[in-house]
Amino acid sequence: MPALDTQTKVAVIGAGAMGAGIAQVAAQAGHHVFLHDQREGAAEAGRDGIAKVLQRRVDKGKMDQQDLDALLNRIQPVADLSEVAESGLVIEAIVENLDIKRGLLADLEALCREDAILATNTSSISVTSLGAGMKHPGRLVGMHFFNPAPLMALVEVVLGLATDKAVAETVYDTAANWGKKPVYATSTPGFIVNRVARPFYAESLRLVQEQAADPATLDALMREAGNFRMGAFELTDLIGHDVNYAVTNSVFNAYYQDTRFLPSLVQQELVSAGHLGRKSGQGFYSYQ
Ligand code: NAD
Repeated sequence: MPALDTQTKVAVIGAGAMGAGIAQVAAQAGHHVFLHDQREGAAEAGRDGIAKVLQRRVDKGKMDQQDLDALLNRIQPVADLSEVAESGLVIEAIVENLDIKRGLLADLEALCREDAILATNTSSISVTSLGAGMKHPGRLVGMHFFNPAPLMALVEVVLGLATDKAVAETVYDTAANWGKKPVYATSTPGFIVNRVARPFYAESLRLVQEQAADPATLDALMREAGNFRMGAFELTDLIGHDVNYAVTNSVFNAYYQDTRFLPSLVQQELVSAGHLGRKSGQGFYSYQ
């Protein structure tokens, strides 16, 4: 199967930080995009967020107003999941929870075309186990974008044990056509980047817990002396502590509670307090 052409309609389910960004990427590549979120008004808000960011490019003369208008016209917020039925590719970017994602995939299988590819943006959940409840797990593949999706080049194309290789190739080639740098990964917990990143977050959190340094000092140190683009605290504020904590728990449990991946109580406290990072206005830093 070749890469999907731009006549193929794409659906993105979940219009949060990742879903809105993925919708922008697909629309920029020329696809008509259905954007759905179970939260009323979230899909429209996702589209408005894209408009706001890209309007700044227009104002700076880096993008034509006509191109922006055309791009926004290609993103169609839909209130009912059944409205995505004619899509050739559906990418889910909903909450990082196995049972909820399985429920959505079952609904999608019931309403989508038989040849539609179902892709998951999960950061850590096994694609094999997500596909286990499906009638046709061969059509499920991981399509793992990084945050912010319009800016980050990497896409992990994750094969579960049942994933059809031709489906993975189509998604790989499509991501490349969208200007991304795809890489194949197997469905091991955390895949590649989130696996490697676990100790970066965990050790940074431990240093704070031991009062070795405060978050701002550690972030500055990793940026200025370590040449990292972001320190662990500004990065987890961007990712969202609910998402990052769920990913750590998922990897921890998938590895039979190996203490290498022990979730942080500091992060658990942030989640309990609703201090989710940028998206809530408060995390390690304030964004009010
Ligand atoms: P988010 O909380 O910003 O957005 C999730 C959205 O999904 C919310 O708007 C919510 O209303 C919606 N939603 C939840 N359940 C739904 C359902 N059943 N049907 C429709 N909509 C539903 O989360 P996010 O950061 O965008 O993460 C989404 C997914 O992407 C997760 O699987 C996460 O692990 C993954 N991911 C996140 C990042 C990151 O840096 N935040 C990076 C890569 C991948």
